[in-house]
Amino acid sequence: MEKCLVVYRMRKLDLIIIHCSATPNGRSTTVADIDSWHKQRGFTGIGYHYVIYLDGSVHDGRPLDKMGAHAAGYNRGSIGICLIGTDEFTVKQWDALENLVTKLQEEYGITMVIGHRMLPKVNKTCPGFNVKEWMQDGKVPLEDHILTI
Ligand SMILES: [Zn+2]
Repeated sequence: MEKCLVVYRMRKLDLIIIHCSATPNGRSTTVADIDSWHKQRGFTGIGYHYVIYLDGSVHDGRPLDKMGAHAAGYNRGSIGICLIGTDEFTVKQWDALENLVTKLQEEYGITMVIGHRMLPKVNKTCPGFNVKEWMQDGKVPLEDHILTI
């Protein structure tokens, strides 16, 4: 029998950064759309590792073992998650975000979860809500940021 050796080295992951797509709340946007926007900006493709659609489905972007392109200076050890929308998200998106963040925290032992705008020198409102508050509240949907469609 032939031996198959798979060498797989995961990056050291210590930070989760939450983003939004900055597209109109409730408008569908896909991984393919974001991939083409990021290519236009000179990236090798989508800079986020995960994208959460309006229906709560979680889609893979850049493979997790590859460094992302979503937060200048903070890509090396981080995971980038993008919610479709600007500052209002469906309950299904909130649920998916909770599940995904919790799963990644457990799997990689990550304690730091932040919003893009919490990084220094970021003049954006991304991801459109206060991630610190969301974490402190136990990852429940933030009332002022729930989209009903
Ligand atoms: Zn962002």
